[in-house]
Amino acid sequence: MMKEKKIMALSDQNIMNTYRRVPIALVKGEGARLWDANGKEYLDFVAGIAVCNLGHSHPNVVKAIKKQVKNLTHVSNLYYTQPQAEVAALLVKHSFADKAFFCNSGAEANEAAIKLARKYAHENMGADKYELITMKDSFHGRTMATITATGQEKFQFGFTPLLDGFIYAPFNDPVALEAAISPKTCGIMLEPIQGEGGVIIPDEQYLARVRDICNRHKILMILDEVQTGIGRTGKLFAYEYSGIKPDIMTLAKALGNGFPVGAMLATNEIAKAFSPGNHASTFGGNLLAMAAANATLKTMLDEGVLENCQKMGDYFLAKLQTLKAKHAIISSVRGSGLMLACALTIEGADIVKACQERGLLINCTGAKTLRFVPPLIITQNDIDAAISILDEVMEGK
Ligand SMILES: *Cc1c(COP(=O)(O)O)cnc(C)c1O
Repeated sequence: MMKEKKIMALSDQNIMNTYRRVPIALVKGEGARLWDANGKEYLDFVAGIAVCNLGHSHPNVVKAIKKQVKNLTHVSNLYYTQPQAEVAALLVKHSFADKAFFCNSGAEANEAAIKLARKYAHENMGADKYELITMKDSFHGRTMATITATGQEKFQFGFTPLLDGFIYAPFNDPVALEAAISPKTCGIMLEPIQGEGGVIIPDEQYLARVRDICNRHKILMILDEVQTGIGRTGKLFAYEYSGIKPDIMTLAKALGNGFPVGAMLATNEIAKAFSPGNHASTFGGNLLAMAAANATLKTMLDEGVLENCQKMGDYFLAKLQTLKAKHAIISSVRGSGLMLACALTIEGADIVKACQERGLLINCTGAKTLRFVPPLIITQNDIDAAISILDEVMEGK
């Protein structure tokens, strides 16, 4: 195996400079643990950024991928496959949706949602209704349409002209949202909890208010559950807490527990706007991705993972509150399930680095917010270990 320094040098020499990387090279994972090329062990509270919700190398997912790869890896969407049918049926059974479209990432799922909303509007609302309202501080991906949908200038700077037909409203403000609606508006797209925006949790009634606005104005409600979905907040989908149903929803991150896969779901009424030739993806619904998604969803639903997420989420949040009482640099703690954050009065980079040196991986969303998204199979012992490292690191800051 290559030495860690060699892996880093070879990467920096040959890979485009788009990521600010932590100077470690990871080689193995199991559950909530990772090992680097020097054999150092880490407790992983990043989980691929809310991707490996069942933990690394979950045996059910490994087994499913192994079994599939021996049989058939890929065929075109010109043909039917059983794994695709099964994943779609599971998603439909456990959500508001009637139909699924498969792709490979969150950005692609959101692209598909934007296209479906426009197509539906074009056919049912008239050609001049194409505008989507998205939220300030949102995050929807890095393609041209999704950086346009993303209400943060730092992701758009240098890439203009952006796509036409997007306007932004403040998050968690139904009055301002309704005021932003124009005769051109065909829908509203938002995250139930803003992830990259800093784990921003709206008021309890917010999603219901947005639904009501969409109903009254006869426009579409599109939820980006790429980060909140697949159990992260303690329910399979975060919208389940709100008592409402969206018209379109996007998924990716944890859907394949680390195998790249995305999905865009919709009701029959909306999905009808797509017909053969309107949208496609070569790899969308790939057999290995579907094997991974099938095993991930079944494990999540059948093995008490959501219950553990709720229980450990409450435990972790209470522990963070104890830390807050002790350390003045913590200005607030918040979270839902195991999507948690700690807002600081200082920059978080030094804390992240000090944690990493002590064997705990966390990251920042925004300069001053620590984010915690451990695997949903995390134990009380592992949370205690993380809290004790954070406590030690924050001492004297
Ligand atoms: C990560 C993320 C995306 C983008 O997903 P990619 O797979 O990186 O394209 C979109 N929306 C939300 C809410 C996300 O957290």
